[in-house]
Parts: sequence; C-alpha cells; structure tokens
Amino acid sequence: MMAEIQCQGCGATIQTTDPEQPGYAPASALEREDIICKRCFRLKHYNEVQDVPYQDDDFLEMLNQISHTKGLVVQIVDIFDFNGSFISGMKRLTGNNPVILVGNKMDVLPKSVNPGKVKLWLKRSAKEHGLEVEDVYLISAEKNQGIEELSRAIDRYRNGKDVYVVGTTNVGKSTFINTLISNTSGVKDAITTSYFPGTTLGFIDIPLDEQSSLFDTPGVIHRHQMAHYVSDKDLKIITPRKEVKPKVYQLNEQQTLYFGGLARLDFEAGDRTSFVCYFSNELNIHRTKLEKADELYDQHLGELLFPPDKETISQLPPLKRQELKIRENKTDIVFSGLGWVTVPEGGISVTVHVPEGVKVSLRDSLI
Ligand code: GDP
Repeated sequence: MMAEIQCQGCGATIQTTDPEQPGYAPASALEREDIICKRCFRLKHYNEVQDVPYQDDDFLEMLNQISHTKGLVVQIVDIFDFNGSFISGMKRLTGNNPVILVGNKMDVLPKSVNPGKVKLWLKRSAKEHGLEVEDVYLISAEKNQGIEELSRAIDRYRNGKDVYVVGTTNVGKSTFINTLISNTSGVKDAITTSYFPGTTLGFIDIPLDEQSSLFDTPGVIHRHQMAHYVSDKDLKIITPRKEVKPKVYQLNEQQTLYFGGLARLDFEAGDRTSFVCYFSNELNIHRTKLEKADELYDQHLGELLFPPDKETISQLPPLKRQELKIRENKTDIVFSGLGWVTVPEGGISVTVHVPEGVKVSLRDSLI
C-alpha cells in the first residue's frame, strides 16, 4: 500500500482514485516534491474555490480533537460575513481552551466604521453563539494590518502552548498564516507551496519553538455561506476587494431596492428615510416601486438584476421573505455574505428577501 501523504495545502490525505473526494491529485502529481491536491492546486494557481464534499460533521469531528489537548484557539471570521463564517459549537469543539476571535478583511470596511464598535459587535455575536472569547482583534491578512499586534497577543495568551487556527473556508486563514510566517521568517506563501508537514488529524504543523506548534486546521465548509450559492464569477463581483463606498438611497414607503438579483429590501411603511448601502462597489443596486418589484424580478433576473449569472441562477435557492420591524435609530440590516444597509431612523418596517439559508440579522450600526 502507498504510504499516506498529506496535501501540503489543506492537509487532506492524498488519493488518486476519486476526483470528487477530498485530497484528489492526478497520479502524475505524486512525482513532485511538494504534493498538493487538485483543489489546492487550483486555488493556488487560479484562485478558484473548488468545493469538496466533506460533510460539515467530518470537519467538526476533526476540530473536536482540539478539546482533548491544551492550547490557544484562534478563530478567524470574515467581518463581512460573520454569520456565514462563525463556527457554531466552538465551545464544545475546543473545550476549555481559551479562544481569540479575529475579524479579517478590515481593509474593505469603510473608514467611517468605528473599529471599537466592530470589536464589540463581534464579541457580542460570539457570546450569542455561546462562546466567550478572551479578546477580539481586527486584521487585514492581505494588507498585513494588525498582524503584529495579534501575533503579540497570541504569544501572550498561548503561554508556551500550541496554537490552533480555525475558520470556515474563505475567511482568509491561509493568507493570515502566510503573512504571519512571512513576517517572522521572510518566506512567502509558505502554506500553499509548503514546507510544513500535514498531521494525521489533517492539521498542518508549523513549529513555533522547540516545544510548541501553530496548527493550521482544515477550513470548515458552511453550506449557508453566500459563496456556495454563486458562480466563481459572481463571487468576484459580490466580494468587496477595495474599501466599500456607501451608496445612499432616499426612499419613500412602498419602494424596493434590489442588490443585484441576490437580495431585495422592501420599505413597507414609515416616513421617508435614507438607506445607506454597504456592499461591494461592483454590486449593482436597483431601485423600483414595490408594486413592480415581483414583475421586474421575473422578467429581468440575470440581466438588469445581476448577479446572478446563468450558472448562479441554476443553483440559487428561491428567495425567501422575512419581515423586520426596525425599532431603534441607527440600525444595520445585515445580509450575510453580501453587505449591510444602515437605517438612521427607527420606527419603520421592511421586508427582506434572500436566498433560502442566507441569514439576515439586525445590529447596532457600526458607524
Ligand atoms: P481560507 O480559505 O480561509 O484559507 O482563505 P484564503 O486565505 O484562501 O482567502 C480567501 C479569499 O479572501 C481570497 O480571495 C483572499 O484573497 C481573500 N482575502 C484574504 N485575506 C484578506 C484580507 O485581509 N482582505 C481582503 N480584502 N481579502 C482577503
């Protein structure tokens, strides 16, 4: 039997038989020195996210190993998609180990956002999911912002023990670890090109000192992440790459905003008010009358209302409606994985429509 080889990218055991399963690599790849699976290969060379049919449970079981050890857990979330990227059940998975929560991709937040409020919101949201965190840090893994401070905190909290970096796919976990390694050793893209061995648990082991390591764990896939419902092309459109520029719409009641054709907000009742929209600058927002909104969707989805493109339409769950009463002034309506709308004045009712499974939530405004 072939000795087990782990993918240098994600830690999955390499196999050459089933392209649909994790760790698949063509036989020819085995001759190379640093073997990575096809999925990591594509991610590295084409920046494409390829889904593997891991059951969420398999991943969670792997993470659950952490509860049997002692160490610091660093959970990374995407600030733009907390609900899609927070791993629920973290408390159970990681036992009594301390957890630091890291909000990544702060570079795309508008400058008007108050970082203190973002931290508070992340901390509260984690608590609502049953997780008390030691501290919250905001970083941009890509722009190398906040990494020094976080890395000092990690050293402080780990107390000489191991560090486990966890996160759902696409939160920027690999980018973060690469930046961390590059800051300390000067080696670029260490994770994907990699020097570090996978472990039997599917974790990648990066030595910190003689006694302890930083482990990169496999990215948990969340089915309700918007990213899983849209084509690669659409994902590029809806994912903010630059600082988000707010777009303001003054609406009367009975008016509707479409965010591409992926989400919709109906202003049902209330005084004329402004809706401040924070989405990827590339995402097209369309205003219409509520009475015309259904017809517009039926006739112009994928054209005037885009994304979705054809590929996304074929896999997008139907939009589901949810009524919301906005009571407080300065409330954000958060469309998980897409963005949010700030409503300055409370006392209005809106209806939101999002693909089934995508979460909409309210929070105190971050501005
Ligand atoms: P992983 O699946 O968690 O390992 O995520 P990756 O490191 O592969 O990153 C996922 C996507 O997020 C990639 O397209 C990255 O370019 C992007 N990304 C990662 N870090 C940042 C960041 O700090 N800011 C922004 N804007 N994008 C980021």
